[in-house]
Amino acid sequence: MAKSDVKAPAKEKEARSASENGKATPASSKSDITVAEKLVELYRLQHIDSQVDKIRTQRGELPLEVQDLEDEVAGLETRLNKLQDELTEMETQVTDKNNLIKDAKAQIKKYEAQQAKVRNNREYDSLTKEVEFQNLEIQLAEKRIKEAKAQIDGKKAVVEESKARHDERKKDLEIKRKELDDIVAETEKEEKDLAKKSEVAAKHIEERLLSAYHRIRSNARNGLGVVAVERGSCGGCFNSIPPQRQLDISSHKKVIVCEHCGRILVDDYVVERVKSGK
Ligand SMILES: [Zn+2]
Repeated sequence: MAKSDVKAPAKEKEARSASENGKATPASSKSDITVAEKLVELYRLQHIDSQVDKIRTQRGELPLEVQDLEDEVAGLETRLNKLQDELTEMETQVTDKNNLIKDAKAQIKKYEAQQAKVRNNREYDSLTKEVEFQNLEIQLAEKRIKEAKAQIDGKKAVVEESKARHDERKKDLEIKRKELDDIVAETEKEEKDLAKKSEVAAKHIEERLLSAYHRIRSNARNGLGVVAVERGSCGGCFNSIPPQRQLDISSHKKVIVCEHCGRILVDDYVVERVKSGK
């Protein structure tokens, strides 16, 4: 980050008198430079600083968006892992029940083989009961498997859904992250260049006017310390400017500030000079 957003220097008191009474800074204060030239330099500085502000605003929201997406993707990942664990648990249950069935069937075979060799009815009946019991075990296990399989199908659908959402958000995240990287890479140089330009432009402005500018700018939400008169109104707060005051602004005899918001006002002449780069 470049440091063009310098805090106003210590000469606050002087600066205050320069802007608050609305007349301020007589032309004679800096030898040979006219008020018009001062305003051109000041508006040029504002123009540069506003570009820096714009870059920062653009970037300012992206890191937050990236952060939000990162959080969301992480949350979806956690949820997905939990669902997967639950699914694995259910599948393990099915495997266990299948093993139980296998064992029961083996037991039944063993009992039936024994039944062929028994010598009395009591032993035979006892083995029959064992077989019945194992058959009941098998039926119960089959019922549980059926239930678990239905749950597994439901769970799989939820996993699929979550996975789709996760993948989608992850894709969004990658796009946003790249966008941010690109903007940072792209604007880093621009921002540094602008900061340098701002520094150079500031050197052309007398200190008290400069500190007034910084003070007004830092108090203004949109970072505007110098604004143009637009259709008879202040370009900062949009309150209308009395005709006499508009004439004073155009006459470039002194620095005029808005009665309502305290921003320094410039006319079309100054705006055009800066826009045309002269
Ligand atoms: Zn205003």
